[in-house]
Amino acid sequence: MLTGRVALVTGASRGIGRAIVWALAEQGATVAINYHASEAAAIELTEGIKSRGGRALPYQADVTDPGQVADMISKIKDTFGKIDILVNNAGMMADSLVIDMSLEEWDQVINLNLRSVFLCTRAVVPGMLSQSWGRIINISSQAALTGSRRHAHYAAAKAGLLGFTYSLAKELGPHGITVNAVSPGRIKTDMIFARMEGREEEWLQQTPLRRLGNASEVAAAVAFLASPEASYITGVNLNVNGGLLMG
Ligand code: NAP
Repeated sequence: MLTGRVALVTGASRGIGRAIVWALAEQGATVAINYHASEAAAIELTEGIKSRGGRALPYQADVTDPGQVADMISKIKDTFGKIDILVNNAGMMADSLVIDMSLEEWDQVINLNLRSVFLCTRAVVPGMLSQSWGRIINISSQAALTGSRRHAHYAAAKAGLLGFTYSLAKELGPHGITVNAVSPGRIKTDMIFARMEGREEEWLQQTPLRRLGNASEVAAAVAFLASPEASYITGVNLNVNGGLLMG
């Protein structure tokens, strides 16, 4: 159980982030719900958690912006006193061959999938160090290991995120803070629906479990890594992909 713990989930208004909020709240955690544009969805999620007896509040911030991240973290600490669990989930895809890719698109994808993780992590680690306890869980992707045509920026950011995870696990392990990654395969969210037309059958044939994943199945892995039961697990990349990529 996560009773008494405070979690921040970035990009939590929709998709996998939303499911992570539910999974952590069901374990008793108080959840800070970060969103960028989808205010109505974040408020609805907050009300849903509260109506089930949980504690949650929405926080608007662009997690690529250092000032907005700092403001968000200080507001969460003012309200809830601390942040015990950070889930770096906010992310985006864009579709271009490298030869056609603009610098703006490269920067946008790298910034949301990688720079944001550095900014949020750097802002929460001092509090975790002072209490000698913390959990940081980074949402990477199978693309980090397989590559993905038309998504070189995305795959590069997600691979960078794994290197960041392993390095941070070494830095923070001596202080009682675990750092792990979860790498989803193809999960039923807006991100994948936008790219699925004409490809679903091919994707199912590539996947031993012969179906796309549910956001709740990724969330369950995150909740496990945040739980007391995962206390001796750090520096791991946990694949949640229906067998699409093994090892
Ligand atoms: P999604 O449905 O597209 O949702 C993206 C989330 O990111 C939204 O909640 C969005 O919030 C938030 N976001 C976007 N820009 C932001 C910003 N600047 N600041 C804060 N939040 C921002 O994506 P998803 O499929 O749930 O993906 C979640 C994570 O899983 C991502 O890191 C993604 O790369 C990873 N992943 C997904 C899959 C998959 O198959 N779906 C596979 C592998 C990895 P607003 O709507 O409020 O802007």
